[in-house]
Amino acid sequence: MEIVPGIHMIEGIIAHCYLVDDAELVLIDTGMPHKTKKIIRYITDELQRSPSDLKTIILTHCDIDHIGNALELRSLTGAKIAAHPYDAEIIAGKKMRKTPKGGMKILFKLLGSFLQVKPFPVDRLINEGDTLSGLAVLHMPGHTSGSIALYDSKRNVLFIGDTLGFRDGVVQGPSKNVTLDMEQANQSVEKLKDLNFTVMLSGHGAPVRSDASAKVQEYIAQIKNRKATR
Ligand SMILES: [Zn+2]
Repeated sequence: MEIVPGIHMIEGIIAHCYLVDDAELVLIDTGMPHKTKKIIRYITDELQRSPSDLKTIILTHCDIDHIGNALELRSLTGAKIAAHPYDAEIIAGKKMRKTPKGGMKILFKLLGSFLQVKPFPVDRLINEGDTLSGLAVLHMPGHTSGSIALYDSKRNVLFIGDTLGFRDGVVQGPSKNVTLDMEQANQSVEKLKDLNFTVMLSGHGAPVRSDASAKVQEYIAQIKNRKATR
């Protein structure tokens, strides 16, 4: 589904993936494992492009529903994979994934073997201040330590990963059960207070198609209020 000219959302792989259709194709996140064909088919059938036009895969963070098809897509297309150094270590299997506190810990353990992909090294490490394929990188720790957002200033679009979601017409924080550090995640969101963007696209939930930065400001005001009344 084309959200704005040149930006497509591929749904139905648990977490959404986004394709930026420029001279080269950029894929942001890759969904749950075993859906490589679905992504390739989108490139060939919907965009009428060749899989080898996919040059860059950017992972917003290390969760399995975002990295699931990255390795296979790299070998099929030759694309280079980029991620923040903190999460790249987890993706490469060099560091253990920290599990969020609370009930999900048991679930994480139970599904541990099922919820794994073969570790792989990424090709490029990206950090706050970098620009990759026209997308400015913002480090947004909290949901995971190496979570990032990507800002397309040409189209006024922010890819936010799992740091924020949009449900029932309101911007919401990341799901508590699967977030490493809620407080840190909310601090990261405050970084967005001076950024102007019309559209916001997250890993889950609906796209914010208009006035996205105003809606994020409302969320920031809300968390500040909550803090003040605590
Ligand atoms: Zn996530």
